[in-house]
Amino acid sequence: MLTGRFPQLRLRRLRKNENIRRMVRETVLTVDDFIYPIFVVEGENKKEEIPSMPGQFRYSIDRLPEIGELVLKAGIPAVILFGIPEHKDELGSDSYSEEGIIQRAVRKLKKECPELYVITDVCFCEYTSHGHCGYLACSGEVCDVDNDKTLELLKKQVISHAEAGADMVAPSGMMDGMIKAIREALDSAGFSDIPIMSYAAKYASAYYGPFRDAAESTPAFGDRRTYQMDPANFNEALREVALDIQEGADIVMVKPALAYMDVIRAVKETFKYPTAAYNVSGEYSMVKAAAMKGWIDERRVVLETLTSMKRAGADLILTYHALDVAEWLKES
Ligand SMILES: [Zn+2]
Repeated sequence: MLTGRFPQLRLRRLRKNENIRRMVRETVLTVDDFIYPIFVVEGENKKEEIPSMPGQFRYSIDRLPEIGELVLKAGIPAVILFGIPEHKDELGSDSYSEEGIIQRAVRKLKKECPELYVITDVCFCEYTSHGHCGYLACSGEVCDVDNDKTLELLKKQVISHAEAGADMVAPSGMMDGMIKAIREALDSAGFSDIPIMSYAAKYASAYYGPFRDAAESTPAFGDRRTYQMDPANFNEALREVALDIQEGADIVMVKPALAYMDVIRAVKETFKYPTAAYNVSGEYSMVKAAAMKGWIDERRVVLETLTSMKRAGADLILTYHALDVAEWLKES
C-alpha cells in the first residue's frame, strides 16, 4: 500500500490547513445521517425534561408537532417514537390498540408534520406491567418471555402502527423469527411498502439505564439476558444480522454504538446493508454529565463520537444529540 518512504513521503502535507483537510476528509457527518428519538406520554400540554437525560423531554401528543417542526427545520429526516402509556397490563395491550399512545402519536405527527418520516419502535417493555419485551410465561417461580406467543402479539402491533400511518417499523425485542413474522404480517395486511429497521444486534447493556428512566421500562424483576445479546459476543451478532436479513430486514441496527464499534464495522463489511447505530441514552448522559462539569468540550466530543460511528460503518445514527449537532453543522 505504501508507495514512497520518508523523507519523500510526508503525510503531514495533507494536514497543513483546514482547506486541504476538508479536501481529503474521508467521513463527513450530515443531518441526513440522523434519526431523532422522541418519548411520548399521556396527558396534555406536557414537555417534561428527563432528569437523567438533560436536554431531552417527554412530550404529550398535543405538543408533538412542536418537536416535529424543530426536527424538520434542522433538516433531520426522521424521528423514532417511543410510547409511554398510562395503562400497562400483562400483554401490553396498549401497544396494539388503535387508540394506543403510539397510534395516536403517529396520526398526530403525520397530520401536522407530513414531511417528517416517522419510525415506530416496536416492542412491549413500555407497555407491559412486568416490563419485559413480550408475553411472559411462568412455570412456578420461573418466568421468561415466550418467543412464539410474542410473535403473534408483534404482528398485531406492527399492523396497528402501519394503519396509523407509520413510515417504517423498528422491532427491538430480539425475539427469534421476529422479522419474518413482521414482514409476513405487514405484507398480508397490504403494507408491503413499509420497511423494517431491525434492532438486529441488540446487547443486554448497562448503557440503557437513562432510557429506562425515561420510558419507565425497567423490568419489574429479572433482566433481559434471555433475549438480548451477551456483550462478550461478536460472532453471534453476525449470525443475528444474517438471520434478520434473510427474514426480510431492510436496515439492520447495532445497539448500543460506542462500545460496539467493532460490531458495526463487521456488520457493514460483511453484509453491505444499510446499517444503523443507536447512540444510546447512557452514551448521551455520560457526555452531558461530563460537559456540565466542564470536564470535556461537549461539541467536540459529540462530533468526534458520531463521526467515528459513521467511520465504523454506520449509515444512520439514532441519537439524542441530533438537534444540537444539526445546529453545529450549520454553524461550521
Ligand atoms: Zn423491549
